[in-house]
Amino acid sequence: DYFKKAGWNLTNSYAQLPKSFYSTINPNPVRSPKLVMLNEPLSASLGFNTEELKSDIALQIFGGSRVPEGAHPLAQAYAGHQFGHFTMLGDGRALLIGEQTTPQGERFDIQLKGSGRTPYSRGGDGRATLGPMLREYIISEAMYALGIPTTRSLAVVTTGESVMRETDLPGAILTRVASSHLRFGTFQYAAKFCPVDELKTLADYALTRHFPEVETNENPYLLLLKEVIQRQASLIAKWQLVGFIHGVMNTDNMTLSGETIDYGPCAFMDTFDSETVFSSIDMHGRYAYGNQPKIGAWNLARFAETLLPLLHDDQTKAVELAQDAISDFGNIYRANWLAGMRAKLGIFNEEEQDETLIEDLLNMMETYKTDYTNTFIALTVNHFEDSILFDQKEFNQWHTRWQERLSRQKDSKVEVHQLMKRSNPAVIPRNHRVEEALEAAVDQNDYSVMKELLTILSDPYAHSSQQIDYSKVPDLSGRPYRTYCGT
Ligand code: AMP
Ligand code: MG
Ligand code: MG
Repeated sequence: DYFKKAGWNLTNSYAQLPKSFYSTINPNPVRSPKLVMLNEPLSASLGFNTEELKSDIALQIFGGSRVPEGAHPLAQAYAGHQFGHFTMLGDGRALLIGEQTTPQGERFDIQLKGSGRTPYSRGGDGRATLGPMLREYIISEAMYALGIPTTRSLAVVTTGESVMRETDLPGAILTRVASSHLRFGTFQYAAKFCPVDELKTLADYALTRHFPEVETNENPYLLLLKEVIQRQASLIAKWQLVGFIHGVMNTDNMTLSGETIDYGPCAFMDTFDSETVFSSIDMHGRYAYGNQPKIGAWNLARFAETLLPLLHDDQTKAVELAQDAISDFGNIYRANWLAGMRAKLGIFNEEEQDETLIEDLLNMMETYKTDYTNTFIALTVNHFEDSILFDQKEFNQWHTRWQERLSRQKDSKVEVHQLMKRSNPAVIPRNHRVEEALEAAVDQNDYSVMKELLTILSDPYAHSSQQIDYSKVPDLSGRPYRTYCGT
């Protein structure tokens, strides 16, 4: 039968949780779904027969008019702090249709985003528009190729219906793949609105799903907290190292798995500036590039609070345990970041002075407004053009210090170059390139620009000649680049 042949292998362990954690609901069928993007490598790694995912039945599934065998569609309940304010949320325009077990035995959520209204839609229409779904596809796949944990994009279908925003826009549904959709906000919901035994059930579920190795520990919930702190510290360090600005680090957009989720207003920084903000609604720069680690710690503190009833019978002791764990975040983050920065500069061993060397470079980049990605490319390929930074005496002195530093390790020049190549991407999804691809797709129904961009972004550490062209800095003299949430 079709489902077996296509490789569907769905169950839904989330549906076994107490009923308060979700609402069972079918997607709202759309008028005339059309498959515009299918992620073939991802489909194969999930155990699908890619050709069968191009069939009519698959189209009905991606478009929400048919539910595959083994599916149990549901909208997840969650809450969260949005820009610091606690709110009840939930999947307002998304449905978990099931969890696909891969041939390797790994479990991935298959979620439709833009599938219609749910009990958590509040005033929203439950729909998504084509441009932002394609944007999520491009950037999440770029993040994956950069080696950064992320949710991924399996397919995009257009719906044949228009969606009312400021103007009428073409509707679309994105099929999102994640190692789970457990959010800090899921725990905030449980802690606030559910009895403690349900909170415990949720925590046990998270342990089984993501941290089975600590389940038998004498205080598994403390280990759960510590593991999540580790993953978030590692994730945010990776964001900083490539210049990724998430843009909406609300607690409902932070996963327990440590995957990047919610690609609404995110964008990559061109010119190095800690205060960079792209999101049109982030008036006060709460989620600016330089604030991301601090916000990560704040979000983890909100997560830790939800676990207090499970950490210790004595709540004073529980608070101490949580605070100790949270206070480690800064050091763990810093260690991750420093290791990554050393690699970007070709440094294998550790010296006390490395932090100063790195900070001095970043400060010069900020002063001379240089392009973040391309400065590291210049250092990698030893080709200094296109920036006034490189004409400065200050930079020459720094360069000498750096070369002296590299000579104080046993590794050869070739090894240094190799390390730098695999630590400094030759391409990132530049805003103007992403816009160009979206314009061709949405306005001209021409997906070739997007597909070429995806190919170039799929191997960012190759440093191929074609990538050099893509790494050109855009003309930044025009209006500042702006991104938008949830359209
Ligand atoms: P976000 O800012 O993307 O994290 O979304 C915040 C919340 O708004 C989530 O609960 C979403 O499900 C919900 N939401 C976003 N867009 C819509 C929409 N068009 N209809 C209903 N709910 C939405
Ligand atoms: Mg979100
Ligand atoms: Mg969003």
